[in-house]
Amino acid sequence: MQRREWMGTLGVLSASLWLSACAGLPTGAGAPAPLDPARLAQAREALADNDGWAAAQGGTWGGADARPEHVFTVRTRAELVRALSLGGSAPASTPKIVQVAAMIDLMTDDAGRPLGEADFRDPGFSWEAYLQAYAPATWGKKKPEGPQEAARERSARRHEAQVIVKVPSNTTVIGVTADAGFRNGGLMVEKAENVVIRHLRFEDAYDLFPEWDPKDGPEGEWNSEYDTLALRGASQVWIDHNTFSDGARPDALAPVWFGRKVQHHDGLLDITLASTNITVSWNHFKAHDKTSLVGGSDSLRTDDGKLKVTFHHNWWDGVGQRTPRVRWGEVHVHNNLYTVPALVAPDGTRYAYSIGVGVNSRIVSQANAWEAPADVPATQLVKLWKGETFTDEGSTLNGRPVDLFAALQAANPGARLSREVGWTPYLMARPVESAAGAAVRVRAGAGAGR
Ligand code: CA
Ligand code: CA
Repeated sequence: MQRREWMGTLGVLSASLWLSACAGLPTGAGAPAPLDPARLAQAREALADNDGWAAAQGGTWGGADARPEHVFTVRTRAELVRALSLGGSAPASTPKIVQVAAMIDLMTDDAGRPLGEADFRDPGFSWEAYLQAYAPATWGKKKPEGPQEAARERSARRHEAQVIVKVPSNTTVIGVTADAGFRNGGLMVEKAENVVIRHLRFEDAYDLFPEWDPKDGPEGEWNSEYDTLALRGASQVWIDHNTFSDGARPDALAPVWFGRKVQHHDGLLDITLASTNITVSWNHFKAHDKTSLVGGSDSLRTDDGKLKVTFHHNWWDGVGQRTPRVRWGEVHVHNNLYTVPALVAPDGTRYAYSIGVGVNSRIVSQANAWEAPADVPATQLVKLWKGETFTDEGSTLNGRPVDLFAALQAANPGARLSREVGWTPYLMARPVESAAGAAVRVRAGAGAGR
């Protein structure tokens, strides 16, 4: 790749072209939101040197060196898909910049018509029949199989093909209006590299066809497939200044079937299947349960040596768990703000834990700030999921120093735990700051458009 080939003069030129194009638009109700010059000016930015794991191995710049004809402004799903594929006019990995200028409903057809469950549901599927077929009292604890499960799967695949949009290599996707983002679906970076995703609102990757898993936990659970942003086999990805949430459909609104709340969401940002060299900076994650998984399985040895992720200056705001939950990876979690919700909120949602220490994880936590209700103990902030090493320094709980390694040990007296994680973070754009300083800056600066 010819880094920065087209940066500089052309970046300024394309920004001014968009500004002049925008100047003629009417304003007021129904008019497109104005393009933000500050965002347009960032469309060709590369990740700063040393800014986390995505700065390794030559860095990450997405579509920064795109030719002017490969810079697109999109407002609908159809325009988005066409831009990402360059309309078939060039290989999909050709550098490109996709400027998102609206909140795009991903559950729409090529004509912009909103779609609903009936548009995806297989003729052989109904929830009534599914609930009858797999009721624990008669079906038992076996994994669902048979005509209703097969029909649910066909429905889900059809839905997924519409609402999960793949982002190819050498791409920047950036929000350029205040409302820019995606709802009713999500983006996936799968087997692709060198991707930048910034200033977008990711809302409500709502799975219409969740699956009943009777073996998940003592009573079974409903599980969904979709993440608002999923990285699978992705490398060199910079995820910066986005806002992630369940949008208008929080989990609290879901019904209870088979005695368990139906879960229509999975992760907000899940990083799995040997993804590596990822920087997640200045994002706002809010109002969600399972937030960010790094590594999807204890048995995936192909993740060994991968899943290198830096999380810095993110705001984990009222979320239930997995911020992040890590397997395998060398993960640097520093200068983030955690505003912990009530252990059990009035709407029934729960706080489980913040950082999950999973199999072969090597997490370095530094100077993170937790703000939590008084009944949340330090031992609840970090949870052991079969990990053996963890280290933390400089973190605070409600403004006071907290030793999270000691807390993890105290909560797991039988576990053999070591502070020796076997690596030292070296990729930082700036030195680690104090937890107190980070909390102030994150609150003021994390999230889309900030
Ligand atoms: Ca799942
Ligand atoms: Ca997921």
